[in-house]
Amino acid sequence: MNRILIVGHKNPDTDSIVSAIAAQEFFAKAWGKDAKAHRAGVLNNETKFVLESFGVEMPEMISAVGDDESVALVDHNETSQVFEALDFGKVDFIFDHHKVAIVTEKPIFCRVEPIGSTSSLIAKMFFEKNVEISETSAKLLLAGILSDTLNLLGPTTTEEDKILAGKLNEIAKIEIEKFVAEMFKAKSSLEGISVEDIITLDYKDFEMGKHKVGVGTWETTFPESVNEKKDEILAALRKKKEDAGLGYVFFMVVDIIAQNCQLYVIGEDEKVLAEKVFGGKLENDMMFLPGVVSRKKQIAPQLTEELSK
Ligand code: ZN
Ligand code: ZN
Repeated sequence: MNRILIVGHKNPDTDSIVSAIAAQEFFAKAWGKDAKAHRAGVLNNETKFVLESFGVEMPEMISAVGDDESVALVDHNETSQVFEALDFGKVDFIFDHHKVAIVTEKPIFCRVEPIGSTSSLIAKMFFEKNVEISETSAKLLLAGILSDTLNLLGPTTTEEDKILAGKLNEIAKIEIEKFVAEMFKAKSSLEGISVEDIITLDYKDFEMGKHKVGVGTWETTFPESVNEKKDEILAALRKKKEDAGLGYVFFMVVDIIAQNCQLYVIGEDEKVLAEKVFGGKLENDMMFLPGVVSRKKQIAPQLTEELSK
């Protein structure tokens, strides 16, 4: 039987790792398919914490896809997000909650919903099919929902996420507030994290009108720890812009408790654009944006609209 390699996006976040691991169980139990979870990069401190908390092994790094293997993408479908060696012809499944950006040459199984996390989607599929979820998968999926929706408080949260989180916790039985506090603390830890890591661990390139735009994010409960390194970060971002030939580069330091963001503005082009789009005041190369925490909902569409004019 053809084996399915399940994999999330590059610069993996918790959602892209735990949804892959739980999807492996779904493939086996619901569809009787041989599938295996993989990862497309180094794990961040939050994801390491989640796996360690639940005693789950880190998935193997994805490499080449064999002749008798196919691919299931979770938590992404854009070309800029897939692992290097992927041949799109190998993709047979997509489970995602981002905008659809793929054109396929053959019919594939594709389930994309406007929901808070891919973990929510995988949980929903388990419940729809009445397939029993193991305690470990329930814990992982719950962590994925809480991570991606910022404890069900972020603007991408839907009513459905809240209901699914509640149903998962009937199985997982974790103390959510305590767990989230620890998970966010791990997310904010800069232990073993270089400036290069800060700007690349949650970074995404976008096509906006005719422009290529990079937007990095750092979610934290302690923005001061990152802001202390602002000058080094700005220098690294300017280099990245130059090296990659990007039109614009932005970086968001998101305070996940206070629910706001400091947008790092690296140069004159970015300043003009950010002032036009977000209307904030620039101070020390940063623009404070109250209530802004989501790149997907509150930064990328607004920049895309302006740059497509
Ligand atoms: Zn993700
Ligand atoms: Zn996600």
